[in-house]
Amino acid sequence: MKEYIAEAEKDLLHTYNRYQIVLDKGDGVYLYDIDGKKYLDFVAGIAVFALGYQNKAYNDALKAQIDKVIHTSNYYYNVPAIEAARKIKKVSGMDRVFFTNSGAEAVEGAIKAARKYAYLKDGCTDHEIIAMNHSFHGRTMGALSVTGNPKYREAFQPMIGHIKFADLNNFQSVLDQVTDKTCAIIMETVQGEGGLYPATEEFLKQVRDLCDERDILLILDEIQCGMGRTGYMYAWQRFGVKPDIMTSAKALGCGVPVGAFMMTEKVAQHSLTAGDHGTTYGGNPLACAAVEKVLDLFEEDHIIEHVREVAPYLEQRLNELAEKYDCIQERRGVGLMQGLVFDHPVGDIINRALEKGLILINAGADIIRFVPPLVITRENVDEMIAILDTCIE
Ligand SMILES: *Cc1c(COP(=O)(O)O)cnc(C)c1O
Repeated sequence: MKEYIAEAEKDLLHTYNRYQIVLDKGDGVYLYDIDGKKYLDFVAGIAVFALGYQNKAYNDALKAQIDKVIHTSNYYYNVPAIEAARKIKKVSGMDRVFFTNSGAEAVEGAIKAARKYAYLKDGCTDHEIIAMNHSFHGRTMGALSVTGNPKYREAFQPMIGHIKFADLNNFQSVLDQVTDKTCAIIMETVQGEGGLYPATEEFLKQVRDLCDERDILLILDEIQCGMGRTGYMYAWQRFGVKPDIMTSAKALGCGVPVGAFMMTEKVAQHSLTAGDHGTTYGGNPLACAAVEKVLDLFEEDHIIEHVREVAPYLEQRLNELAEKYDCIQERRGVGLMQGLVFDHPVGDIINRALEKGLILINAGADIIRFVPPLVITRENVDEMIAILDTCIE
């Protein structure tokens, strides 16, 4: 492994401080490095591999699509994209789907749709978007512009213009930023990278009402919290606060790079139209075969019901740790998207866990984040807690 890591550090651009292991293969909720060491995976490639590794039905569907055609471009129709869009509409209740290659790209599309919607109303190009502090929406320039973390933005100024920031769950702070030029309010339904902060029902409803009153579009970023992770297919369904535009990615393709932004028919009829937006790869047959199969398997394997069953147990076990150790301030999160907030940086604990065969990740310096495959069992939770306990100790 040491040789590969040295090679990687010469060849790959150093944009990550990587953990010192080289992963080779997966099986269920376990990963193996190239020396054959086994790890219990509570990260799932950052909330991506929801179904567990080596899911036979998923793998077979991808192999079958590879043997037909992988890519055709968006100038022609393909059946996997049509089927995948139909299934996304069914589970999201949204009306129109645009497939992208990543989460950030879905956010870009959502921003463009909102700006076009406002432009068609008044012909002006000075519309504003309100985003949230501590948010994370991706690393491209538009997505970065609505990411409420100055550290990520600083060196890349100027951002796209007319973005304002408010505080999640503080409706007055949103009102303070609203003007006649506000065209959209964007937020994660549950903030992930920024520290596992769920938007409250009250806040979401207040923002929804404000948007309705002033014809502002509500954009919910469900890239991390969506796809069953909170015990609902999309986290907003927990409160029934429906967005006008939403984004999905991460677990949407369970590892095949694919994202999507979806919108209501009202927005679709008054925003992006032929020639306004595009992508070469987005929604190609391979990516959409993955989406299609993932959504089928969510239904057949009762993934959401399983999350509802196992998540309270994870919460309970994490609460016990928080009780036991003074250095843990609180547990926070929803469903299988949880965080333990420490009063000190968690890098050492995560490294020690890795040595003991447990993969964890942080969210900010002081929070350990738990975003496991959605198929984890109570036994997996016990196994994780036992290792983590000794590492904290
Ligand atoms: C990961 C993430 C993104 C960015 O997705 P990429 O596929 O990495 O571009 C955007 N929004 C949220 C909430 C995310 O968690």
